[in-house]
Amino acid sequence: MATSTAYKYKEPAPKVDRENPLESMMSRFNVAADILGLDDATYNVLKAADKQVIVHIPVTMDSGEVRVFEGYRVVHNTVLGPSKGGIRYDKNVHLDEVKALAAWMTWKCAVVDLPYGGAKGGIICDPTTMSAGEIERLTRAYTLAMKDVFGPDRDIPAPDMGTGPREMAWLMDEFSKTVGATTPAVVTGKPLVMGGSLGRTEATGRGVMVSALAAMRKLNMKPEESSAAVQGFGNVGSWAAKLLCEQGVKIKAISDVSGAYWNENGINIDEAIAYKNAHKGRLDGFQGAVLMEHAEDLLTLPVDVLVPAAVEDVITEHNAHDIKAKLIVEGANGPTSASADPIINEKGIMVVPDILANSGGVTVSYFEWVQNRQGFKWTEEMVTERADRIMSDAFEKVYATSQKYNVPMRIAAYVVAIDKVAQTYKFRGSF
Ligand code: GLU
Repeated sequence: MATSTAYKYKEPAPKVDRENPLESMMSRFNVAADILGLDDATYNVLKAADKQVIVHIPVTMDSGEVRVFEGYRVVHNTVLGPSKGGIRYDKNVHLDEVKALAAWMTWKCAVVDLPYGGAKGGIICDPTTMSAGEIERLTRAYTLAMKDVFGPDRDIPAPDMGTGPREMAWLMDEFSKTVGATTPAVVTGKPLVMGGSLGRTEATGRGVMVSALAAMRKLNMKPEESSAAVQGFGNVGSWAAKLLCEQGVKIKAISDVSGAYWNENGINIDEAIAYKNAHKGRLDGFQGAVLMEHAEDLLTLPVDVLVPAAVEDVITEHNAHDIKAKLIVEGANGPTSASADPIINEKGIMVVPDILANSGGVTVSYFEWVQNRQGFKWTEEMVTERADRIMSDAFEKVYATSQKYNVPMRIAAYVVAIDKVAQTYKFRGSF
């Protein structure tokens, strides 16, 4: 630990090409490890994943053809507890991405002080072109292949991009059959009737709203006088937009795969959600706003708050200069590449980083797991009140750390997380 609290902040090294999410994560990790004076042994343990499992899953498609899918589960670290993290179904899933996402889960759980390590899973597939039956067979076969990895005390999956309660239900059922006992606590994000938690669906978006409001207070911004653009209108983006709107923030732009939609007077988010639900989950043809010519221009619109809630690496060294928002709240995992960090910091934009801003989801996942183990159901008020408190406390802790070391919020979040993990290693004396 540094003797003086005034640490001289060094920007992570900028990179030229499209960034690898693992390298993006590591460059921030390195800065935080430097600040903490992390010893070599702990550094080396944390920079590599504990376990990486790669499986090839044969699935009979509806046509009768057998296709073989590649699937991953990466367990980054379990020193704080069983590993936790979602499963992603997407055609662009890549092992390096899954490794970065698994490490982000370790930091995320540590920032909000949950007794969990970090993991992530993924299958290279395009669920938008698959039937429900094909997705079910794929999910069950993946679960079977991972039966020795998953477990309520070992590794607990959850939804991520391309998966939701339906897939979690199949996973729970398949795992339960292999162990011969109904085991709800093996997975979170389940449907309510089978042990899901009240408040889990909106939890990530709600955490984005709570941390955005906390940041706005620090910046003396009034929600009812502020505007926002939200990239991504899936579970996280749509709930974040809705809840920010309820706090008086004018949502001037939203987007999804069909494009970006702009309305200077503010978009009626309930209407946009109803439209999306009635149109196969997409905003194509939404009339409550104008379709923008270039969807990526949403990121550089003249708004006060920017919420990237879609995929990785959308804020880069190429567009960071043009960002006009005063505050960025990262609903997605890894939306800002490391090369954009110095530009954003130079411009004085506050960033509530992903591992803090989107941790509301895993927080309520934790509550779901606790309820499953208790065999007891909490009320929605209990869930939201406790989740909001965890989010506000984590925000204040990260903010205080950023002041103490004079570093951006992103580096401060890594410092808080790595410090907790490193201290635990010291007490456990595992190596
Ligand atoms: N996939 C979500 C995330 O990236 C949730 C993980 C969980 O609930 O375990 O945070």
